[in-house]
Amino acid sequence: MLLLNPGPVTLTERVRQSLLQTDLCHREPEFFDLQDEARKRLVAAYALDPATWSAVLMTGSGTAAVESMIAGLVPEGGRLLVVENGVYGDRIAQIAKQYGIDHEVIKYEWMQAPDIDAIIERLDGGTFTNVAIIHHETTTGRLNAIDRLSRACAERGIGLLLDAVSSFGAEAIDFDGGGIAAIAATANKCLHGVPGAAFVIARRDALAKAANRTYYLGIARLAKLQDERNTPFTPSVHAYYALVEALREFEEEGGWRARHQRYAKLAEQMRSGLASLGMASALPPEESSVVLRAYRLPAGMTYEKLHDALKAKGFVIYAGQGGLSKELFRISTMGALDANDMDRLISAFVELVR
Ligand SMILES: *Cc1c(COP(=O)(O)O)cnc(C)c1O
Repeated sequence: MLLLNPGPVTLTERVRQSLLQTDLCHREPEFFDLQDEARKRLVAAYALDPATWSAVLMTGSGTAAVESMIAGLVPEGGRLLVVENGVYGDRIAQIAKQYGIDHEVIKYEWMQAPDIDAIIERLDGGTFTNVAIIHHETTTGRLNAIDRLSRACAERGIGLLLDAVSSFGAEAIDFDGGGIAAIAATANKCLHGVPGAAFVIARRDALAKAANRTYYLGIARLAKLQDERNTPFTPSVHAYYALVEALREFEEEGGWRARHQRYAKLAEQMRSGLASLGMASALPPEESSVVLRAYRLPAGMTYEKLHDALKAKGFVIYAGQGGLSKELFRISTMGALDANDMDRLISAFVELVR
């Protein structure tokens, strides 16, 4: 079965085999070597300076990392502006509400791009310490353009908290702009690991001001103990095995730039294949990530029918979310997929819609 959903991904044989390593107690030095290697490789993935940036690991899915980042890195008494143009922006607003964090939401239609000028104006009109935005809004496949926002944040001393769960490892991230205080991501999307390990990469100065709103996901304690080759709880040891192996493979394959190129080719192959069958992509390619694209369902075809027929042929595609589920379906090109797989998938579509 090939997975074309946005994580968990189709694994390489190498990462799958890494799960079968020796049983490991998480209080032994061998585990802390593994933890150290994962943290080091995550910071190196975007050539960040470890004196400025720290990768903090946690056990959970991508949402755990997002929650840890929001709950911890909006300082005590801080105020957060949440940018929403899809499901994941809405999720950050819910997290802020749950923790009683003083926040405002600036909302856009799910098919719309956020208006960066309006966001900067809103920042200037308020007393915000932080702004949160989704990098790749997986709801629609839109890659939100954050560079100008990141620079505006840097100029104003506002910490940008970026949900990079479905972009880390495959899209450029403006760490140099100076506005990003932290990003949250997970092992099982563009890095090609397995679910269970998630992480926040945060500026050390942002970690030093962290609030203590959550127990299990408390980012300051996780960072401090991990720096001391320690851990507060039992981590998902096997997911760490897979993450480290996936990060080694990622580096050997040329890092995020090579992965970007590879996904871009596969996404374009899929886009032109489906376009020739009359299935248009929901967004123009220049507004989309290379990681996932949303497509319009063919006339007279429900998602369920399409999904089940493709699954019978060995392909798992993904539904549109919320109100978009009747109009769209999504195809992600993350994971161990190649041009042959895309050809076979396009042939399967041809048989169905012909
Ligand atoms: C996948 C994803 C998440 C996290 O989802 P989980 O199911 O918790 O892994 C968060 N944000 C974005 C943009 C995502 O694509």
